[in-house]
Amino acid sequence: MIGVTVLGATGSIGISTLDVVGRHPERYRVVALTAHRQLDRLVEQCAQHRPDFAVVLEDNAAEQLQIKLTARGLHEVQVLSGVAGLERVASLPEVHCVMAAIVGAAGLAPTLAAARAGKRLLLANKEALVMSGQLFMDEVLAHNAQLLPIDSEHNAIFQCLPERNGLALSRRGVRRILLTASGGPFRRLSLDEMSRVTPAQAVAHPNWDMGRKISVDSASMMNKGLEVIEARWLFDAQADVIDVVVHPQSVIHSMVEYVDGSVLAQLGNPDMRTPIAHALAWPDRIDSGVASLDLLRVGKLEFEPADTVRFPCLGLAYQALRAGGTSTAILNAANEIAVEAFLDESVSFTQIPAVIEATLADVSAGPADSIQSVLAADAHAREVARAHVQRRRLG
Ligand code: NAD
Ligand code: MG
Repeated sequence: MIGVTVLGATGSIGISTLDVVGRHPERYRVVALTAHRQLDRLVEQCAQHRPDFAVVLEDNAAEQLQIKLTARGLHEVQVLSGVAGLERVASLPEVHCVMAAIVGAAGLAPTLAAARAGKRLLLANKEALVMSGQLFMDEVLAHNAQLLPIDSEHNAIFQCLPERNGLALSRRGVRRILLTASGGPFRRLSLDEMSRVTPAQAVAHPNWDMGRKISVDSASMMNKGLEVIEARWLFDAQADVIDVVVHPQSVIHSMVEYVDGSVLAQLGNPDMRTPIAHALAWPDRIDSGVASLDLLRVGKLEFEPADTVRFPCLGLAYQALRAGGTSTAILNAANEIAVEAFLDESVSFTQIPAVIEATLADVSAGPADSIQSVLAADAHAREVARAHVQRRRLG
């Protein structure tokens, strides 16, 4: 039996993960589930999957969770709390596989703990890698962890790349990585129209059903920017071999171009259970519950260039990646603050890139030579971004 911990079990990726795991009870055993605020959902998941541990961030939430579990007769589930609790369940010896599906910088510590414990690490939490890049990859290598991408684009690229043999991408015949982007709900809007969109419009993605933060990132195309940075580290690819192409149908999840002109693509319905099942079972294949792709119904596959004038976040991400060091941690922190401010209607949608750009200009990047320096850059950037939000606050 393969022991599984799901960090961020109550979120969109967490729920899809438990759906796949639940289809294969002979293969997987849930050891631990973690959540932040959705205690009732966590209790339901405990009732269904009978983990040994349930973890929440805050102590008072842990007390409430204990009461709810006891009331349901789930006495065998041990409740833990805090970052220490998250790190512990990411590194237990009986856990083979850790799904890292906490959203944002909050996921960095437990995700790193899983890497340091040498686990099979299913990485959905792209922000962790965007923040810590090389340091993260060094930990994976040093502890012989197995890093498998869950982000649909990176999972597609992983499936299309030749096997790793220690050689650089160019020595393995790869010319280009082509990340596909849906273009999000505002693909056709002018900047002026975008300045008036509401949070509800931003989180209504045309193809994917996701958490609120990543949905806003998809609408601003910062999600694609973060994914460019993620691809840089996952595949050891430089920024100038990673291109973005808008593909509104979200059927091709990404592509790899080779020097002989071959382009390999991975296709499927836009359902995260495919990459999750792929990474859980790799190199085997297991049923994910995803329906067959009906190409005749899809009809046509379209492509258009990404527009960095209407979607400045994409350009800012490339800029931070090229600047290097702690720049990408600053970018990520400023984005988290700006998205939060947009979701609580403190700033308009088009102020998101403005806050990030101003923060990148104000906070000087340094070398990302330790996790402490990354976390210090993150904290400083949050403070500066909050001040920029304050200055732009609506009404
Ligand atoms: P979500 O908001 O639906 O879920 C987030 C999970 O993290 C929840 O379980 C929540 O309880 C937990 N969480 C939130 N804040 C926390 C904190 N401070 N400490 C501990 N736990 C906390 O998000 P999601 O859409 O499932 O995305 C999760 C991650 O996966 C993100 O990094 C996102 O970019 C990435 N991702 C998601 C999708 C998708 O389809 N949803 C696709 C690709 C990548
Ligand atoms: Mg993605």
